[in-house]
Amino acid sequence: MANANLYSLLPKVDELLEDKSIQELLDKIPRSLVLDVIRQELDTLRASIRENKLDKEELKGQLDGLVARISRRANQEASYKFKRVINATGVIIHTNLGRSLLNDKILDNIKEIASNYSNLEYDLQSAKRGSRYSIIESLICEITGAEAALVVNNNAAAVLLALSTLAKGREVIVSRGELIEIGGSFRIPEVMEESGAILREVGTTNKTHLRDYENVIGEETAALLKVHTSNYRILGFTSSVSIKELVDLKTKYQIPLIEDLGSGVLVDLAKYGLNHEPTVQESLANGADVVTFSGDKLLGGPQAGIILGKKEHISLMKQNPLTRAIRVDKFTLAALEVTLRYYLDEERALREIPTLRMLTMPIAEIEAKAKNLLDLIEGQGLDKAFTLEIQDDFSEVGGGSLPLEELATKCLVLSSDKYKIESIEGLLRGFNPPIITRIYRDRIYFDLRTIKEGEFKTIVEGLTHVANTLRES
Ligand SMILES: *Cc1c(COP(=O)(O)O)cnc(C)c1O
Repeated sequence: MANANLYSLLPKVDELLEDKSIQELLDKIPRSLVLDVIRQELDTLRASIRENKLDKEELKGQLDGLVARISRRANQEASYKFKRVINATGVIIHTNLGRSLLNDKILDNIKEIASNYSNLEYDLQSAKRGSRYSIIESLICEITGAEAALVVNNNAAAVLLALSTLAKGREVIVSRGELIEIGGSFRIPEVMEESGAILREVGTTNKTHLRDYENVIGEETAALLKVHTSNYRILGFTSSVSIKELVDLKTKYQIPLIEDLGSGVLVDLAKYGLNHEPTVQESLANGADVVTFSGDKLLGGPQAGIILGKKEHISLMKQNPLTRAIRVDKFTLAALEVTLRYYLDEERALREIPTLRMLTMPIAEIEAKAKNLLDLIEGQGLDKAFTLEIQDDFSEVGGGSLPLEELATKCLVLSSDKYKIESIEGLLRGFNPPIITRIYRDRIYFDLRTIKEGEFKTIVEGLTHVANTLRES
């Protein structure tokens, strides 16, 4: 039998609402949300009484902490669910964690544009309506040498628009070795179908020759498409046809050559000790008529799809009604202008663009960061149940860019004889802000390449939280 007297000890909702801390809560959190939390907490206590789980003393203990519990939970419920995380995975362009980061100058410009009116579609010279694309177009053309350019929502949209404009109802020839899928459901055959173009596959998975293309060129051919196999490589007995070779064909038959470059890097990464990734400038110089790529992969800017190439093709795309549906917003344009301007001076781009900075970070710098973080954690007195050491490892570029690149890095590696490594990882992920790590062979890896110095303190707090939680459980 439940002790009916205990119910009378429970405070009324109205009484709780009068409490000073709850009053302060109501200043910043919607009343309905606070009321929900109060009711849920009281319901839990009533259930405990009903099920005889509490005696009088225990209930009093629970009531002492009631207001604090309500505050904590209400604050939790009211916090944003889409939030920053700490990327300790070492994957630089991590699509699930938001791809490229923007620096402060870019953010300042977004704020300037977003909190004021702007000349988004207004020509300040003529006082007439202008184009939202013109400023960014001249900048892209200046950097890449392209005749014309257009920016849309993302690269998937860029490919869709190029195909829909140049090849709707007609055939586009693609090598079977390039019929790729990129994470998050971008598949060349499906984008092709959606655009209304007809896919004409040639060659085999591992080998495609120039004659394979030429054999199927006919009346119905609208374009040749070359897709950069961003996220995988076919190794061994292989051959594919380069853009240069395809140029002979497209010139002979007078059909446009489209290249989906995926990452769209604007600097020669080989100069910085990385594998060579075909640049946008090379693709154009080799003779591609239309080139598309993402804004937030190796370019290091905001999400966007950049299309550049011959004026005749880009002009047609600008007139396609689809362009209106996939147009970029002013925040993207504000961020993209700052990002692209860095490329007018390559060294500056490498220094200022976080993606490029992380990609080319010297190992000595990563090692120094690892030591600093280790010192900081040890200075706070790491729980005896944990062991930490610095180890050599490899980071990944991510975002379907440079899949075979092995970026030597330094990791802080955590192991524990006492606690399950999955529990530790889960608690780090549940911390605020969440700390996203990688488990390998029963150890947790913190890759210092993608961890900022400003995040060290949070990691120390996270580890303390993990240790306290596991000790109490
Ligand atoms: C990433 C990628 C895409 C898709 O780009 P989004 O900007 O994510 O839409 C398309 N094609 C290739 C080759 C890619 O690497």
